Amino acid sequence: MSESTRVADVLIIGGGLSGTMLAVQLLRLPGTRRILIVEPRAELGRGEAYSAVELGHTLNGNAARMSVDPDNADDLTQWLTDYISAGGWPESYQQHVPISELFPPRGLFGLYAQQRLAQAKAVSTSIVEHIRAEGVDLQVDPTSALLTLDTGEQLRGACAVVATGMFAAARTPQTESTGLNAAALDPWDVPAMARLDPQSTVLIIGSGLTMVDAVVSLEQAGHRGPIEVFSRHGLLPHVRRQPPSWDDFLAADHSLSSPRQLLREVRRQCQLALRQGIDWQAPLDTVRAHIARLWSQASEAHKRQFVRHVRPWWESHHHRSPPLSAQLVARLQEQGRLRIQAASFKGLVPSQEGVAIAVRYRGEDVITQVLGAALINSSGIEYDWRRVARPLPQQLLKRGLVQPGPLALGIAADATGAVLDARGQVSQRLFAMGPPLRGMWWESTAVTDVALQAKALAARLAQR
Ligand SMILES: Cc1cc2nc3c(=O)[nH]c(=O)nc-3n(C[C@H](O)[C@H](O)[C@H](O)COP(=O)(O)OP(=O)(O)OC[C@H]3O[C@@H](n4cnc5c(N)ncnc54)[C@H](O)[C@@H]3O)c2cc1C
Repeated sequence: MSESTRVADVLIIGGGLSGTMLAVQLLRLPGTRRILIVEPRAELGRGEAYSAVELGHTLNGNAARMSVDPDNADDLTQWLTDYISAGGWPESYQQHVPISELFPPRGLFGLYAQQRLAQAKAVSTSIVEHIRAEGVDLQVDPTSALLTLDTGEQLRGACAVVATGMFAAARTPQTESTGLNAAALDPWDVPAMARLDPQSTVLIIGSGLTMVDAVVSLEQAGHRGPIEVFSRHGLLPHVRRQPPSWDDFLAADHSLSSPRQLLREVRRQCQLALRQGIDWQAPLDTVRAHIARLWSQASEAHKRQFVRHVRPWWESHHHRSPPLSAQLVARLQEQGRLRIQAASFKGLVPSQEGVAIAVRYRGEDVITQVLGAALINSSGIEYDWRRVARPLPQQLLKRGLVQPGPLALGIAADATGAVLDARGQVSQRLFAMGPPLRGMWWESTAVTDVALQAKALAARLAQR
């Protein structure tokens, strides 16, 4: 170890919401620790999701659902109340709903996370430092973890936490080889969209929440032409409403194990609700609290069955659109400007002008070429670390410090977040949280997942 190697009790790799909330929870615990957060972005707490600058790129849940404090469900509502009273987010008054029902812009949510970190720092004897760099390699010995940064510097921690978030599918070698990365516009890059001919046709691959954001970006950029959306199943996210509470039917019944049984029971409950004039979202929302248990207990065959048959349905029914964005999409569909088509993307086609893509419409054998002035790739996330072209995931796999999680989704860990090495040994030094644990819990990404994991992991690390 060189003399200049900085040392810490906890090294957090990634300073998005997960890494930042872990730091907040560690700061709140008794004792004094040195915490280093390694994050290449200029600001902590934001990551990709909460670096958004457009007011129209909002959270997909209202303030009442998005607290980062598992002990206080009203934490975001309280912060927002103070923020709005101090003159912030004046546009919120136009919505005429209570503050708890507002869907805050994601950039504002990033500020909330940052302020909670600043407050926790101000009253703690522990220290948090932001090291602005990318972690590119890690070595673990019986007493510590040594992280190498892209600057060449090394940091040593009594333990390290992988909080590197999600990796966009377009950054993987597979899609890079199709040239998609270079040809596609960033779904959140409003200035680039403003340079398009407003009447031109824009093609979008993927029809999930990133597509919804991309449509908001296009509208904001002044685009008024056709938008052609292609996705394998052609399913659009449902709009999030505020359903009443519903009996937690899964709490009492632990007999449902196969995805088919589960789906049948959820459908039955939704029909029951509809017959009583109650929103189907009410029974569906009770399922969320059981997903981690159901997923982690399921056999590999059942997990595969879920991914193959239930996932598209779950994604469109559970991961819902914020109402204002959903209204925009619905309006454009009514006007005939936006079409969602079930077709799989087969690659880019060389074209003299604009962008040409090859797609295969569902139920057809032939490949069709579609032309547009621009292309937006909103086809999602790469959870298989073996295909992520970033140095740290590759080094961790190469050194055998981690192994792929179930179904190759993220990495494997025990119930407390301690990662499993290539031989299946539980690490004493290396932990993970958030999206890298997708394969362990299925839902391991949303604000509420991250908030709960941060609290539990902080307590686990403090016991050491
Ligand atoms: C566009 C978008 C919108 C979303 N909207 C919502 C929403 O409305 N509601 C909701 O509940 N969830 C939403 N999510 C899910 C969201 O991912 C989580 O809420 C949360 O951001 C996860 O935090 P994270 O810190 O684990 O990951 P990220 O936010 O991805 O942050 C990970 C950080 O790690 C850093 N990093 C990566 N590799 C390294 C490395 N090797 N060294 C150092 N740093 C590294 C990255 O720079 C990044 O800042 C959204 C996600 C996206 C992408």
